Amino acid sequence: MSQSARAFDHRSTPRVFCIGRNYAKHIEELGNRLAGARSVVFMKPASCLVAPEEPLVLPRKVGEIHHEAELVVEIGRGGRDIAAPEARAHIAGLGLGLDLTARDLQANLKSSGEPWERAKAFEASAPLGPITPLSPAIDLTDLSFSLQVDGATRQAGHTGDMLVAITELVAMLSRTWALIPGDLIFTGTPEGVGALVPGQTLLLSSPVLGEARWQTA
Ligand code: MN
Repeated sequence: MSQSARAFDHRSTPRVFCIGRNYAKHIEELGNRLAGARSVVFMKPASCLVAPEEPLVLPRKVGEIHHEAELVVEIGRGGRDIAAPEARAHIAGLGLGLDLTARDLQANLKSSGEPWERAKAFEASAPLGPITPLSPAIDLTDLSFSLQVDGATRQAGHTGDMLVAITELVAMLSRTWALIPGDLIFTGTPEGVGALVPGQTLLLSSPVLGEARWQTA
């Protein structure tokens, strides 16, 4: 972890935006159509955030709970209708998080056309590591990150593979919402999603953004 990274306090988080379908190989692994794919936007309440080393209690009796390792953006300067070339100046920092997903339930909700909240916004569904301030040295399009479960790599992502780049995501969200300092954006997951069970050790890591660990329960 970089020395300047700071601990996270969900009470100062106005909103948690999440982007779906932002990596081609993940769209394909879930059987969604890549052609004409459009970003999905959904939200989780900030009460879903779980700091590193806090117990990660998985919901029971809702089918498989999948990990989705994601790069997370924290907004530093708010704004509406932000142009993509200006978006970097609105970003305070970056971290790594998990968009935990009740995959079986999500499939049911998708097929019946219902909203995704029960599959995406459940208690403890958003583990989030420390936020590293955005320094001039950080290239938003050249960040690698990975998730290990019990020491085995499950997901390895690179922000250069995003279908919609980080600055474009900030611009897109700001056309619908006036962004507020402290807003978080989970930017989508690369391929390799899979099920978690109680008793596992999760390690999110990135050469630039450091590490964060949780134990599932
Ligand atoms: Mn996701």
